[in-house]
Amino acid sequence: MLFAERVREQFRGRHGTEWSPRFGGGLCPIHSCYMAEPGKEEMASAEASGFSDLSDSEILESLDPEDNQESSASLSKPGSSSQLPGKDGKLRSLPKWKRGLDVSSPMERFHLKYLYVTDLSTQDWCEQQMIYGKEFSGFLAPEKAAVLDTGSSIHLARELEVHDLVTVPITTKEDAWAVKFLNILSMIPTLQAEGLIREFPVFGEVEGVLLVGVIDELHYTTKGELELAELKTRRRPVLPLEAQKKKDCFQVSLYKYIFDAMVQGKVTTASLIHHAKLCPEKPLGPSVLRHAQQGGLSVKSLGDLMELVFLALTLSDLPVIDILKIEYIHQESATVLGTEIVAFEEKEVRGKVQHYMAYWMGHRHPQGVDIEEAWKCWTCNYADICEWKKGDGVPSSNLKPQAKKTK
Ligand code: SF4
Repeated sequence: MLFAERVREQFRGRHGTEWSPRFGGGLCPIHSCYMAEPGKEEMASAEASGFSDLSDSEILESLDPEDNQESSASLSKPGSSSQLPGKDGKLRSLPKWKRGLDVSSPMERFHLKYLYVTDLSTQDWCEQQMIYGKEFSGFLAPEKAAVLDTGSSIHLARELEVHDLVTVPITTKEDAWAVKFLNILSMIPTLQAEGLIREFPVFGEVEGVLLVGVIDELHYTTKGELELAELKTRRRPVLPLEAQKKKDCFQVSLYKYIFDAMVQGKVTTASLIHHAKLCPEKPLGPSVLRHAQQGGLSVKSLGDLMELVFLALTLSDLPVIDILKIEYIHQESATVLGTEIVAFEEKEVRGKVQHYMAYWMGHRHPQGVDIEEAWKCWTCNYADICEWKKGDGVPSSNLKPQAKKTK
């Protein structure tokens, strides 16, 4: 018996009714993300640092204080001997981290339950820079907010083109995941009936770590192929450097990697509960519950919802993603600067993921950029304190002086 038939039978047994492809179609997508107050000033360093084209949806999600991070006060701020960043945004001294002495893995040290796809694509630009970004996250918030400003507005406007959004207040991590699940349940029938959805949540265990993301857009082409479209907004009307395109290609490849696993039934509830430390029996919060009931779902707990989501993913005949496309557009004029079609190289993606996860699992030391990419250090916010740059990874003598970041 085929996998889908087995699941259908399971659904019939538990719910006493046949699976319907319109299941979840009564729901509308929910927004529960924390919206940062956008900054007004532009940060010239952002694009050059590879930070400007992050997935805004994921950054907004990562600002949710309830979900991913455990209590992490000791890591969110430098110690008393540290200084705040100067006016140029550069940090002037390194806090007394126990880096190098720690026996715990970076996942434990940063108190993370899962990673975002954006974490790995940033790691692809410079692993050391990504780590500094996490260590000094509180102090870089204004830069992040500035980078998110126009880009996130464009993303939101595009999302509103295809569906309305309802804001639902959440109070627990179970509710935060319930929102993801309700959105998945509402979007699957829309994709199958109307052929286009935006901001689709994805998640899955990769090399022992839970990876979470948000796909900008999924649609069917006229030939019936499922295409992923990632929108990258650019502050300046030029295409990114090849190195940045490489990072973006890796990002969309990761989305396919996770999405395909989801629709092939390779993602399990047990893995999700384990990594995200979820309590499936916990009753849903009143707002989430009301929304679910308005959509015709008779669910009480996160576990009920989870079961429906995993059934929907496997019973809805969703195909794997056929085409990966990245569109670069200029923020101010909305001009399309260029489009990249990404060839999915599964072996290469898996190899990179294994390498990056080895750092997160504590199996190797972090690395900065190779000597050939030392130019990335010229505009890096952390160049003054970077141990890799000072050490034998990239000899300081080979680096140009710090470029001014004002424009
Ligand atoms: Fe990476 Fe260079 Fe920045 Fe160090 S200075 S974090 S090696 S880009």
